[in-house]
Amino acid sequence: MSSRHVASTSAFLIACAAAALLAAQAPARRDFDAEYRAAVQAAKDAAGFEFLGTLVRTCLLPQSGGENTTDNVPDFVANPAKAPARETWYADPAKVFDDLYFVGGKVHSSWALTTRDGIILIDTIFPYNSEELIVGGMQKLGLDPKQIKYIIISHAHTDHIGGAEMLQKKYGARVVMGAPDWDTVEKYPNRYKTMAPKRDIVATDGMKITLGGRTVTIWTTPGHTPGTLSYTFTALDRGRTVNIAYSGGTAFNFVNNTPDPGIRNFQIYIDSQKKMAAKAAAVHATVLLSNHSEFDDAYNKNRMLAGRGKGPHPYEIGEEWVQRYFAVMQDCARAAQIRLEQRQGAT
Ligand SMILES: [Zn+2]
Repeated sequence: MSSRHVASTSAFLIACAAAALLAAQAPARRDFDAEYRAAVQAAKDAAGFEFLGTLVRTCLLPQSGGENTTDNVPDFVANPAKAPARETWYADPAKVFDDLYFVGGKVHSSWALTTRDGIILIDTIFPYNSEELIVGGMQKLGLDPKQIKYIIISHAHTDHIGGAEMLQKKYGARVVMGAPDWDTVEKYPNRYKTMAPKRDIVATDGMKITLGGRTVTIWTTPGHTPGTLSYTFTALDRGRTVNIAYSGGTAFNFVNNTPDPGIRNFQIYIDSQKKMAAKAAAVHATVLLSNHSEFDDAYNKNRMLAGRGKGPHPYEIGEEWVQRYFAVMQDCARAAQIRLEQRQGAT
């Protein structure tokens, strides 16, 4: 072998080694499309037929993108004639458990938990239907709205806070909400016109609202809004205690149309879902409630109650299905987060 040949062979080997080293150092190219498809498939598998509304809203429908910084009086407040037609939102009230009553509408929920010392109300729907659905609904069910002692607002959007000012004024009920959402209400006086309860109880993580021997435990779950709250509590089904996990904010309403801060916002949302799934597991929750009946199917389940007979309670889906709800939310958020990571990688 000539010395020239040896030299060129060594050069070749060195070049090969260098190329191998580079290949080892270069990150493997991410297949964003495959990652996205896997996350959506995981959400679909978790949803089964139980959480189709949640799947559609968080994985399929386009999401609202930017931050809402407008401070306009909503149309339905400025001109009540512009409120949506009654048939689009009216639902009959229902006694769902021995001590938990549905007084919401077709799309948005409001729940009244009765205790020996009064009522804890969870969410208050819109200003244009809270009087009929909550006050009227309670009266139809034989409950006295004057007994509302606490109102817990899952978050400060008009479909949940709409009746809080009216109920606070009328019945002197204490209002509980997350600190950032109290701030939002104060920051946008026009947006919350007729929907701005006076600042009252600021919810903190693990806070217990106790009345007449019953307790609703509050968990801060930022994401949908910075102050979104979720809960664990119990109700009685024909005298038997059932454990409930309540999810207070589901759709991706936060800024999510740019990698920064969208990726971070999705992570906050995902972390909250993981946290709430753990809280639900810790109390062995077998019932999942949400503040939209498209997510927990409340409107249809209320109608199924009438034909229940000796069968299982239509809301009692079991611990595994409660966990699956939070998995759908996490997987769909992860899918959307992957798309933003893809965009970030492309710039
Ligand atoms: Zn909302």
